[in-house]
Amino acid sequence: MPIDPVCGMEVSEETELKVEFEGKVYYFCSPHCKAQFEANPEKYVKEEKMKHEHEMHSHGHGHKHKRHGCCH
Ligand SMILES: [Zn+2]
Repeated sequence: MPIDPVCGMEVSEETELKVEFEGKVYYFCSPHCKAQFEANPEKYVKEEKMKHEHEMHSHGHGHKHKRHGCCH
């Protein structure tokens, strides 16, 4: 299932709302998201990667910290 890089929603590959960028095809849930991406595709391609790394990092850290406080 492809992910709409603008809002993060799962979208169908059958949608006509798609854009090819740097050899990859991105799919969108709405014409609004597609327009946002087309206006600045590099921003969304980079943000998707950064957001993923950040979420994994902050989740691990927050969980560890909370458990430490609880046990102590
Ligand atoms: Zn969307």
